[in-house]
Amino acid sequence: MSKYVCKKIDALEAYVPGEQPQDRKYVKLNTNECPFPPSPYATRLARQAAGGLNLYCDPECGTLAAVAAETFGVAKEQMIFTNGSDEVLNFAFIAFCDEKTPAIFPDVTYGFYTVFAEVNGLPYREIPLRENMTVAVEDYFGAKGTIFLANPNAPTGVALARAEIERILLKNPDNVVVVDEAYVDFGGESALPLIEKYDNLLVTRTFSKSRSLAGGRLGIGFACPSLIADLRKIKYSTNPYNVNSMTAAAGVGALLDKEYFERNVAILKENRAYMTEALAKLGFVVLPSSANFVFAKSSDISGEMLYKKLKGKGVLVRYFDKPRLKEFVRITVGTKEETDALLKAIGEVLK
Ligand code: PMP
Repeated sequence: MSKYVCKKIDALEAYVPGEQPQDRKYVKLNTNECPFPPSPYATRLARQAAGGLNLYCDPECGTLAAVAAETFGVAKEQMIFTNGSDEVLNFAFIAFCDEKTPAIFPDVTYGFYTVFAEVNGLPYREIPLRENMTVAVEDYFGAKGTIFLANPNAPTGVALARAEIERILLKNPDNVVVVDEAYVDFGGESALPLIEKYDNLLVTRTFSKSRSLAGGRLGIGFACPSLIADLRKIKYSTNPYNVNSMTAAAGVGALLDKEYFERNVAILKENRAYMTEALAKLGFVVLPSSANFVFAKSSDISGEMLYKKLKGKGVLVRYFDKPRLKEFVRITVGTKEETDALLKAIGEVLK
């Protein structure tokens, strides 16, 4: 780093995204992308939008907002569109946390939360998951901070029922509760209907997983209009053009091609069941996943060793060098062929 960088940034530990290696072709099961390309309708609309790239994009994402309002059954004023859901999460840290209002989240969850807190100079508190990696909702009652819960959680894949989220909302009327639903389409129970009832709820969604647009970078925040207005203030104070025209157009196509979306989700759920069963047969403990990945451990090999050996065989999974996670690997659910390649490689490693 340079001698000019300010202390806060010098001390910051940046988020380390999953590898995107370019050296060879891998069976890539490490960053929870969708193995299927975007809907052909999404790519067609994005291509058309490319012809208008000389103009700034619509900061309101008008067409996308109309389609999303219809798709999710909400009003335009209840949504904000962002550059991936990471951006709306960052906005929530900026808007709803300060020295007196720490961010609160589980000790095992999406690794970006600590980085969002630190880069914005915000305090945070981690609440341990239970031994079995589930969230003890009572621990969040009267939490005196802004709560961030990934549901289904990452990297565990374990989900909370909507009623449990509602209990947390009821017990924290003076604080915002952010429910990060990046993986909800794969089996979670969405808290989205609750935004009508609770003015302290923000639900975030992404197009990166179930809608095959990770490279497009598109996220949505859903909340009551006043919370959305808070977030829009941050957007308009940083980058009003945060969602480019091609991505907004692709988002429209991804939402309108419901059949494609539903078919892909159904296939991935089927593949998840197949992978879970096969891993269990190989002696793995697999946490019950409601996401497009599984979190699994074997008593025969550490997470790190398995990750390394699989990488040597051209299969990429994710390993976390953290106290409670060391034994596990997180494996994205891919196509049937990718799953078979993974299982074959694991079989060889364990021999
Ligand atoms: N939340 C969780 C729990 C995630 O795992 C991810 C993806 N890494 C995100 C949010 C952000 O995804 P994106 O910015 O691609 O929408």
